[in-house]
Amino acid sequence: MMQSQDKTEYNEKDILQKVVAGKISFRNIDKLVENVDSAVHVRRNALEEITGTRFEEIQNYTFDAEVATKRNIENMIGAVQIPLGVAGPLKINGEFAIGDFYLPLATTEGALVASVNRGCSAICSSGGANVRIFQDVMTRAPVFKLDGVVQAKAFTDWVRRPGTFAQMKEKAEGTTRFGKLLAVEPYVTGDTVYLRFVFDTKDAMGMNMVTIATEAITHFIQDEFGAIPISLSGNMCIDKKPAAINTILGRGKTVIADTIIPEKIVEEKLKCKPKTMEDVNYRKNLLGSARAGALGFNAHAANIVAALFLACGQDAAHVVEGSTTITTMEVIKDGDLYCSVTMPALPVGTVGGGTGLGTQKDCLKLMGVQGPGKIAGSNSKKLAEIIAAGVLAGEIALIAAQAAGHLARAHVELGR
Ligand code: NAP
Repeated sequence: MMQSQDKTEYNEKDILQKVVAGKISFRNIDKLVENVDSAVHVRRNALEEITGTRFEEIQNYTFDAEVATKRNIENMIGAVQIPLGVAGPLKINGEFAIGDFYLPLATTEGALVASVNRGCSAICSSGGANVRIFQDVMTRAPVFKLDGVVQAKAFTDWVRRPGTFAQMKEKAEGTTRFGKLLAVEPYVTGDTVYLRFVFDTKDAMGMNMVTIATEAITHFIQDEFGAIPISLSGNMCIDKKPAAINTILGRGKTVIADTIIPEKIVEEKLKCKPKTMEDVNYRKNLLGSARAGALGFNAHAANIVAALFLACGQDAAHVVEGSTTITTMEVIKDGDLYCSVTMPALPVGTVGGGTGLGTQKDCLKLMGVQGPGKIAGSNSKKLAEIIAAGVLAGEIALIAAQAAGHLARAHVELGR
C-alpha cells in the first residue's frame, strides 16, 4: 500500500516550497521529481499547505500510480474508495454469459445491494434471465462546414458513394488492429453536415479508438472534398448526454433481458401479486416517465449500471446512456409475470479505459470477463449481458418493493 511519507526528501522539499509559492504548477511536478509516487506525494502535500487541509485517507491506495497516471488520471493526489458489495448468484441464459454470476457493486447507497440480491434470487427461482445483444456499435460524428445547401448535398452524395466509403474505411482501419468501420450516416442542418461514423470496437468500449480512427477520416475528407472539419465531435455521436438518437439507433451494446416469474415466486419471494407489480410498472415506469418527459422508462436502472460501472472500470459518465432503459412487466397466462429490460445504449469494454486498474480487474475477473475475449469482442458482450441481467434484477426488486409497500421500510430497517 502506498502511504504518505513522514519526511519529504531534500529535492522534494525544495519543489514543494516552489509549488506552494506558485512558482511550479501541479502539472509540472512530474517532470521534476524521480518517480510518479513522489509527484503524487509532493502535489498532495502542496495542496495541504495551500488549502490548510490535512488529508487522512486519500493517500492510501493499492493500485499502480505509474499505470494510472499514464492512462487514467492527471494531477494525481491519491484515491477515493467506494464500498464494494456482491449480489448473486444470478443465473443468466445469454449468448456469451451462460451460468451463475456474482455481481460486484460499488456504491454508497445503502439497500441497493440487498435489493439487487433479492431480484437475483427471484430470477434464479424462475429459471434465470434470458439475454440477447441486438446491436454492438460505437459512434463518432464530426461536424463539417460547407458553402451552402447545394454543396452540402454534393458532399453527402460523395460520402454515400461506395468508393468513398471504401477509402474512408481504409483510412480508419489503418489506425487500429481491432476497430472496423461499418457505416456512415450523414445528417444536415443548413450549411452544416454531421457524419455519424459507426464502428465495431470488439472488446473496447471504443471512444478513444473511434476518435483516433475518425480523425484519420476527416483528414482524408478535407484533402479529397475540401469540407472543413469544425470539430471531431459534432454531438450527433452523441456521447454522455441523454439523447433520442441513441435510444432509437442504439450506441454501445443494444441489449435486452427478460424472464417470467411464476405467480408463486412473486408471492413467496417478492411478497406481492403479479397484477400489483404490473400496475406499478405501468403507472410509474411507463405513464409516469412519459408524463415527466423522461428518456428512460425504468425504476432505477442507473443505480445498477453505476454500481457495476464503478466496480468494473467503465466510464462512469456513460451511466447517462444506461439510464435510458425501458422496463416492462405484464401478467401472462396462468397469472405469471413477464418482465423485461431494454437497454438501447450500453457502452462497455473489458480492455482500455479504467479496466486495467487492479481493483477493477478483480471485479471483471469475478465475472470471467477481464481483458480481451478469446474471440475478439466476446468479453465485452458477455459483460453487457451480465449488466442487463443485473438491471433486470434491480428493476424487479424495486417494483416489487413498491408494489408491496416495502420501500420506505427497507430503508428504515437498513438504517438509511
Ligand atoms: P483505450 O483505452 O483507448 O484502449 C483500447 C485499445 O485496446 C484499442 O484501441 C486496441 O488497440 C486495444 N485492444 C487490445 N485488445 C483488444 C480487443 N480484444 N478488442 C478491442 N481493442 C483491443 O479504450 P477505448 O475503449 O477506445 O476508450 C476508452 C477510454 O476513452 C476511456 O478511458 C474513456 O473515458 C475515454 N473516452 C475518450 C473519449 C474520446 O473522445 N477520446 C470520449 C469518451 C471517453 P488498437 O486500436 O491499437 O488495436
